[in-house]
Amino acid sequence: MLGLMQDWPLTVDRILDHAKINFPRREAVTRSVEGPISRTTYGTVWRRAKQVTNALIERGIRPGDRVATLAWNTERHLEAWFGTMGMGAVLHTVNPRLFPEQIAWIINHAEDQVLFFDTTFAPIVDKIAPHLKTVKTFVAMTDRDHVPKSEVTHFVAYEDFIHGHAQEATWGGFDENTAAGLCYTSGTTGEPKGVLYSHRSNVLHAMAANQADVFGCGASDVVLPVVPMFHANAWAIAFVAPMCGSKLVMPGAKLDGASIYELLETEKVTFTAAVPTVWLMLLNHMREHNLKLSTLKRVAIGGSAVPEAVLRAFEEDYGVEVIHAWGMTEMSPIGSIGKLLPEHHAMDHESRIRAKLKQGRALFTVDMKIVDDEGAPKPHDGKAFGRLLVRGPAVARAYFKNAGARNDKGECLEPDGFFDTGDVATIDELGVMQITDRAKDVIKSGGEWISSIDIENIAVGAEGVANAAVIGVAHPKWDERPLLIVEPKPGAEPTREQLLAFIDGKIAKWWMPDDVVLVEKIPLGATGKINKLALREMFKDYKLPSAQAAE
Ligand code: ADP
Repeated sequence: MLGLMQDWPLTVDRILDHAKINFPRREAVTRSVEGPISRTTYGTVWRRAKQVTNALIERGIRPGDRVATLAWNTERHLEAWFGTMGMGAVLHTVNPRLFPEQIAWIINHAEDQVLFFDTTFAPIVDKIAPHLKTVKTFVAMTDRDHVPKSEVTHFVAYEDFIHGHAQEATWGGFDENTAAGLCYTSGTTGEPKGVLYSHRSNVLHAMAANQADVFGCGASDVVLPVVPMFHANAWAIAFVAPMCGSKLVMPGAKLDGASIYELLETEKVTFTAAVPTVWLMLLNHMREHNLKLSTLKRVAIGGSAVPEAVLRAFEEDYGVEVIHAWGMTEMSPIGSIGKLLPEHHAMDHESRIRAKLKQGRALFTVDMKIVDDEGAPKPHDGKAFGRLLVRGPAVARAYFKNAGARNDKGECLEPDGFFDTGDVATIDELGVMQITDRAKDVIKSGGEWISSIDIENIAVGAEGVANAAVIGVAHPKWDERPLLIVEPKPGAEPTREQLLAFIDGKIAKWWMPDDVVLVEKIPLGATGKINKLALREMFKDYKLPSAQAAE
């Protein structure tokens, strides 16, 4: 027997419709790429997004066509986002931090027809335009006075592009499983692969991401997504904020500590989200200038593990709650959340800190399990490591154009329908998951696994350390042993002995790095995470002192 409730397809245009009807005057504030702070409202974003739809239709864009953005978080990006998805076209966020050749490859692979870009990226667009096979229209997201001159093609100003178009257009009315967004994984292993979100997956994921124990935002919140929209939908915040009527604050091109601090304070932000490197910059800035946070209540940190020093600084020094999140592009992206349980609240402070350093428990809509190489489940005892597999309505089933297919249906799944995250994790008795490594980054020493992340998290807490990475280096006896690579803070010169002494006692003896090297800069990848591939390349011929001794 079927239920007798209404058919109301879960399409993302309803999110902005809801904001326009219920929160028309709630602000969306942007640090514009041109410089000044600009202010708009959900009502105006809705009207201008409709103009985007009409402008796209006039240029021949049809439902299912791909429209790319190479853009920061701004109000115009939000308009292009809803204007494209609302009409049933697919909004493809391109990560501008990739190499120009990769960007061109991705745009050609997606067969994007229109490219919206911030003027910051005009040099990249000029460079790749001759290689783009399908892009017919290049829209610079600015007004006529600020459009850069192109050497090779014609750039239309965004304001001219939408000018004169009607502020009403039909949105929705299609199947909720229609594609809404496209986002490529960074391709650290092989060619980038496109994750094709549906309207339904985006709506369900946004609702899941805003449960009380996840982001828990409401109409009284002021939300600053530092995490870019090109990094897996700004972790759903571009949907969550209009859905619940939070004021939205967008940082544009300026993500440095001083600029973010200024927005947090002047706009009275209560909730913000970004990868740890952003918070390291903010905390350094606040310490240097002896600053306090007067309105911020919660900060979501994910994309890589929260370093203990960052967790302690926010919670102990600034009274801001850290929400540790784990996920990936293929999961829309949030998979687990580190909010504490009553069992944790009954513990002492230090045990709570330990618990918060874990990646947390599965959200509703995510099934999670750890298995061995044969797929047999591992116990949830907080000790046994296993491959972390997931399943859910906002988890990828296949990649765009069947890239990386693992079965004849083109799916990228295990035989039992789960998706292998490529992460290795433990799950404890309370269901709290802890990533111990990327499967490809674990250090295999004498047949046992060492977690590079655990050591990194400790090392960044040592004096004079700006950032730290651990990689496995070849060893004649043990196969691999850990090498600690440290980027010192400006002016600091931590020694090998000081660093090893700091780590000693905090991890098992056999996990201790065999050597330490200082580098000027730890290379970061396109999503702001440590680029281990580049580090492994840099140190591929590195001879550990212990290896020389064993030879
Ligand atoms: P990429 O794999 O290309 O970097 P994502 O941005 O989707 O793409 O990154 C997903 C990966 O980032 C996860 O599989 C995991 O390894 C890592 N990650 C994300 N959040 C965390 C976290 N809180 N702690 C540790 N690792 C994390």
